Amino acid sequence: MKKKVVIIGAGPAGLFSAYKLSENDKFEIIILDRGRDVDSRKCPLEYTGECNNCNPCNVLYGTGGSGCLSDGILNLRPDIGGDLEELTGKSDKAMKLVNEVDSIFLKHGAPEKLFIGETEMIEELQRKAEASGIKFIQIPQRHIGSDYTPVVINSMKKYLENKGVKFVMLADATKIEKVKNYYVTTYLQKNKPYKIESEYLITAPGRAGSNFLMSQINELGIKVVHQSIDIGVRVEVSKVVMKPVIDVNRDPKFHIYSRTYDDFVRTFCTNHEGYVMKEQYDGYVGVNGHSMRDIKSQNSNFAFLSRVTLTSPVEDTTSYGISIAKIATVLGGGKPLIQRFGDLRMGRRSTPERIRRSNIKPTLLSTTPGDIAMALPYRIVTNLIESLERLDNLLPGVGSDSTLLYAPEIKFYGIRVKVDSFMETNLPNLFVAGDGVGLSRDIVNSAATGILAAEGILKKES
Ligand SMILES: Cc1cc2nc3c(=O)[nH]c(=O)nc-3n(C[C@H](O)[C@H](O)[C@H](O)COP(=O)(O)OP(=O)(O)OC[C@H]3O[C@@H](n4cnc5c(N)ncnc54)[C@H](O)[C@@H]3O)c2cc1C
Repeated sequence: MKKKVVIIGAGPAGLFSAYKLSENDKFEIIILDRGRDVDSRKCPLEYTGECNNCNPCNVLYGTGGSGCLSDGILNLRPDIGGDLEELTGKSDKAMKLVNEVDSIFLKHGAPEKLFIGETEMIEELQRKAEASGIKFIQIPQRHIGSDYTPVVINSMKKYLENKGVKFVMLADATKIEKVKNYYVTTYLQKNKPYKIESEYLITAPGRAGSNFLMSQINELGIKVVHQSIDIGVRVEVSKVVMKPVIDVNRDPKFHIYSRTYDDFVRTFCTNHEGYVMKEQYDGYVGVNGHSMRDIKSQNSNFAFLSRVTLTSPVEDTTSYGISIAKIATVLGGGKPLIQRFGDLRMGRRSTPERIRRSNIKPTLLSTTPGDIAMALPYRIVTNLIESLERLDNLLPGVGSDSTLLYAPEIKFYGIRVKVDSFMETNLPNLFVAGDGVGLSRDIVNSAATGILAAEGILKKES
């Protein structure tokens, strides 16, 4: 008889674990996801600039996960967006996983074109960065584009269905119980509770599933450690400002240490000719960005984040981050805050009139002009101002008065579930994968942890 595997979450982590398991016919595989199917995941923000507060939010939930409507940049390095070498304990295995993820994406329609940059241009950028006290990280990347990621995800989903994988959509997992040798997962579908039993469980609910996960971690006694989170803003500038670095790297990563506090600040998720977007979480809003291959804006945006680590006796960075996100949401009246960099520097609010006069026209309209310094802690605001001014030496224009900042952008990696090298928790046969359990921070790494979890189950059944 086939062994049943339930996977919570149809993001890259869940999909790739199903992909790996489906290569073997020993398993009945069921994926539960709180969101909609890929074809129904339309975000009105893309078309009207207004958020309809879809429930569940189509940006974060549904087949393909938060990666589905994303920019679809594949960072092809095992140490960016996670640390596969640390997780597996082997450097050759880490790179093998990256290549396996990449080859599956290519099989399902990701573009052949690889952004690797020319050596001379990379060296020139590295030289300039070092002169400004900034570290530039070079990464080979593939760009799917948010208009094509649904096509790629759809192809993967059809492939999995042909292999017998069952997708249960709009299924909100609410409880996990261990009953003898089985895991019983309770989920709500159209407000009706259902229960499903399985020998193996892979929990991969992404960052948007962190509330669910936290409650289960406490109830089941899953062991975790606290880790850092990144808090900051999304920066939006004219596309010509970013063009010189985009020619070298599609999603350039810069690492900076702030002058006053010596805190780590980084750029992340650059969307050239892209759009800023709103994320709707349970109880607060956030911002993010995406770009398409065919439809372009006049702007570029990137996340600009300051790292926060809390040490004993209070280490709960997740609760700290959520409190900040909630303050920003209150100040924005339920919408993200927007402010010109010049206004933040001058210690004054951006009014609707000041935003209207700005040289940069915002790509996200569903925002409230305000004062980010009233939402983010002083230390973070100081780090962001100093570091953006430093980045301006390398990229003239990013630190101009009319640069737009959107808040809050918070990357919650605060809790990391303790796992072995195959992503099995301290509870036998309960595996975890992806961003929501603190094991990854991007598409490739989350997918790779999904593959590892599947390999763990395959090993147990061999
Ligand atoms: C707008 C945006 C742009 C991004 N751009 C990029 C990019 O260009 N490149 C990159 O590498 N990364 C990008 N990222 C990050 C990337 O999408 C994530 O790192 C990746 O998707 C994480 O995969 P995951 O499977 O761990 O989680 P997710 O992709 O978040 O998937 C988790 C899934 O679990 C489901 N779920 C949650 N809770 C429950 C529950 N209780 N019951 C059932 N289902 C549940 C959700 O509906 C979701 O589908 C972007 C993210 C966003 C939001």
